[in-house]
Amino acid sequence: MENIKLDTSVQYLKGVGPKMYELLNKLNIYTVKDLLEYYPRVYEDRTKITPIDEFEKDKSVLFFGTLVKPVTVVRAKGKKILSTVVTDDSGAIAMLTWFNQVYIKDRIKEGQTYLFYGKVSNVTGSRAQLDSCSIYNVSELSKIQGLYPIYSLTAGITQNYLFKLVNTLMDSGVMLEDIFSEEFRRKYNLAEVNYAARNIHFPKDYNMINLSRNRVIFEELFLFQLALLNMKNKTIQNTNTNTYTDLDESEFLKLIPFELTNAQKKVVSQIKNDMSSNVVMNRLVQGDVGSGKTMVAAIAMYLAVKNGYQACLMAPTTILANQHYIELSDYFSKLGLVTEIITSSTTKKQKEKIIERLKSGQINILIGTHSVIEDNIEFNNLGLVVTDEQHRFGVKQRMKLSAKGNVVDTIVMTATPIPRTLAIILYGDLDLSIIDELPPGRKPVETYVVNDSYNERLYGFLRKQINEGRQTYVVCPLVEENEDLDLNSVEKLYEEYKKEFSEYNVAILHGKMKNKEKDQIMHDFKDNKINILISTTVIEVGISVPNATLMIIENADRFGLAALHQLRGRVGRGSAASYCILKSNNKSAIARQRLDVMRKSNDGFEIAQKDLELRGPGDFFGIRQSGMPEFKLANLLTDNLVLEQTQEAVKEIMQDDPKLEKAENLKIKRALYEKYGEQINNIVG
Ligand code: ADP
Ligand code: MG
Repeated sequence: MENIKLDTSVQYLKGVGPKMYELLNKLNIYTVKDLLEYYPRVYEDRTKITPIDEFEKDKSVLFFGTLVKPVTVVRAKGKKILSTVVTDDSGAIAMLTWFNQVYIKDRIKEGQTYLFYGKVSNVTGSRAQLDSCSIYNVSELSKIQGLYPIYSLTAGITQNYLFKLVNTLMDSGVMLEDIFSEEFRRKYNLAEVNYAARNIHFPKDYNMINLSRNRVIFEELFLFQLALLNMKNKTIQNTNTNTYTDLDESEFLKLIPFELTNAQKKVVSQIKNDMSSNVVMNRLVQGDVGSGKTMVAAIAMYLAVKNGYQACLMAPTTILANQHYIELSDYFSKLGLVTEIITSSTTKKQKEKIIERLKSGQINILIGTHSVIEDNIEFNNLGLVVTDEQHRFGVKQRMKLSAKGNVVDTIVMTATPIPRTLAIILYGDLDLSIIDELPPGRKPVETYVVNDSYNERLYGFLRKQINEGRQTYVVCPLVEENEDLDLNSVEKLYEEYKKEFSEYNVAILHGKMKNKEKDQIMHDFKDNKINILISTTVIEVGISVPNATLMIIENADRFGLAALHQLRGRVGRGSAASYCILKSNNKSAIARQRLDVMRKSNDGFEIAQKDLELRGPGDFFGIRQSGMPEFKLANLLTDNLVLEQTQEAVKEIMQDDPKLEKAENLKIKRALYEKYGEQINNIVG
């Protein structure tokens, strides 16, 4: 235990065996520093001692209690129930119970006084009832009293375990390094970093929490904006631009079987403006599901090729890349352009051939998954990069692809609605285009919320759809692709549907299948060889099968609204009426309310706004999906004030010391590299 450093693995801490180490890893805690920075989610107010006669139902209370009888143990329904009765100066009594914690019988004794913390489950007259209280000795009061940190946990780790682990660590004398000088801290009114960490974990009052959290949030946003500014400078410094002399897309437009919507036309003209101007294009195209972003991208790629450049389109899944390839290569080939696709299911041999042809310029357009950013992929003259469903990629991947060309124009497309102010901060280096109109004739997807008692009727409806030649998606909540538990549930669902609909073709699709299998399934679904597709959220992004008119989402309450909206966008792609059935047995008011939002609205922006109101911004983006940096405390939506401060601070420091070479800024520079290294490489310093 001696000589603990910030980068010491937590497995060397007392109380951390191999099993706990694995569990801590699940919380992304590997080193001592990770643990120190594993901040509580909320706090329990244990500042006040409540007399028993003031107990109220459902309140959590810290109280002294003297046992008026010994702990008794009775067995009921296979459980051991321990109970006792305590009283205090108020004269009221409380009945305390625990389940199966037999050791409590010896832990507390009749006539002795202890400190308890727990939630009042009931009050009748002057008698209160509490279950599973925590027990402390009276001498522990000073340690217990205050605001008690509540951490996010994983099965097998308790609040108390983390509390003790962090507490011991704090007492071990290990110190975080403050990247800000004293002068800087004074200027921006920031707490010292160790003071902040201690008071975030073990605060005495809310003022201390605010001061301390503020310090951490400042640091996170400061580094984030510093990184952003550096990226932006890089694009601005790039004075070379591609030259576009021919911006006539009419040949392409003649091929497509519909007229562009006004919104699509507007965005196309913004893109053409970028092309004809003398800055490098960096454009974010935001448009609700089904608004027709692909066509806009296709036109841009067509123009790039027309002007002598290669173009590349990167999609987040193999399925989607294939779909884009099938649709677009058809158009492009009619114009004499050569399109190729690279995904993880492309064989090594095929890939080598494609790379050869890419290098020699025989291929005009490359479509693919993130396989296209692999190091061995080289272009002859890459001029335009399009990333589809940007929220699935990080800034890093976008930049890596752009680095494959000399001067590269960029379009990123996303269906995730982000409030405008936030988009500017997040994609600070991008211009924003919005496709705020759906192609004509789209009927809103009729949405219903039902529970299991509707199964009979639902199955009847499903049969009717299939008998009319339509197809159905059944989606199962699987948030983590590698959660075996959830995987079982898709397979279980598959078995159920196969049994119920034995007369139809039922297939399964999930992220753990081989790409080849996935492609085959999607292919067969497109060809209407599959009537019912049981799937995880792998179909969430972009898939377009107009003949699918019914989507059933199981356990719909487990999804975020943005994800539900995205999923629902898979139906209603043709002219036939489409339906989305949200199944949920969750009776909670908030779950009802959220699903009701889906029932009432088909507008992605409105849904996102409501979701934000109902869930709070913390949950809104989901962490990995967003492609946003993962902050420990900062929240880009709510920490506006700090954002303004850091913006100011970043500007000042960049004016004073743009390469962060001054001694007082070296720690900042190091921290910047540690966090955003690859993205800002070769920029600072
Ligand atoms: P998203 O914006 O969700 O990526 P897509 O690009 O997949 O949407 O387009 C959805 C569907 O709408 C596709 O089948 C596409 O061919 C079609 N589409 C695109 N633009 C138009 C339009 N202007 N009129 C009619 N259909 C269109
Ligand atoms: Mg799309």
